[in-house]
Amino acid sequence: MTNVLDDTDVQRILAVMAHPDDVDFGAAGTVAGWTDLGIEVTYLMVTDGDAGGFDDAVTRTEMAALRRDEQRAAAKCVGVSDVRFLGYPDGRLEATLDLRRDIARVIRQVRPDRVLMPSPERDYRRIYPSHPDHRAAGSAALDAVYPDARNPYAFPELLADEGLAAWTVREVWITGGPAADHRVDITDRFDRKVNALRAHASQTGHMGDGLPEMLRTWLSANAAAAGLPAGRLAEAFQIVDTA
Ligand SMILES: [Zn+2]
Repeated sequence: MTNVLDDTDVQRILAVMAHPDDVDFGAAGTVAGWTDLGIEVTYLMVTDGDAGGFDDAVTRTEMAALRRDEQRAAAKCVGVSDVRFLGYPDGRLEATLDLRRDIARVIRQVRPDRVLMPSPERDYRRIYPSHPDHRAAGSAALDAVYPDARNPYAFPELLADEGLAAWTVREVWITGGPAADHRVDITDRFDRKVNALRAHASQTGHMGDGLPEMLRTWLSANAAAAGLPAGRLAEAFQIVDTA
């Protein structure tokens, strides 16, 4: 049995993701459940997703603005209003010290109990979730949780110049794995997840009914892995105790 913080013991959650739409594919149903409980959820998107989309008539600068708007609209579908962007270039992300500092800054500002992030590891069974930007964002986010955000001597300028005191995140949830050990039943919030993903129209607009069908296939497999009855849908995570 995985040891997971009780949601009633959690006040604030920060999701650090590489691109607009990552949090919605991986965790929108779970996020909706958290905000329903009154937990404050903040999104931090490392890139603007400006290398995504299928419309050649849209410039990359326009695409960045569009995708920020889409992410804000998607966030609203699941009760999230605090959406932040770091503006790193899409498709060229690396887990640099600058990125670790920029994520550690937001951790110290938000002071989350739990941080949601992509896996820093490559999954050889399913290549799509292992996009290099996802791995870089996951690696930098986990390093920002431990040790950077909690060590007052790491990036001392955050304290000296910005007054941001050290903060210890108690728990990390990695979307999808690498070795998923916790599933959240989101059957009753499936429609909100679909709505959130449809808000990313530049990415999902061409999918039509294929979008909910694809999601049902993934989420049913997660539910089956958790031993839930047929017809249930679940999002999967690996929990890391970082207290
Ligand atoms: Zn992505």
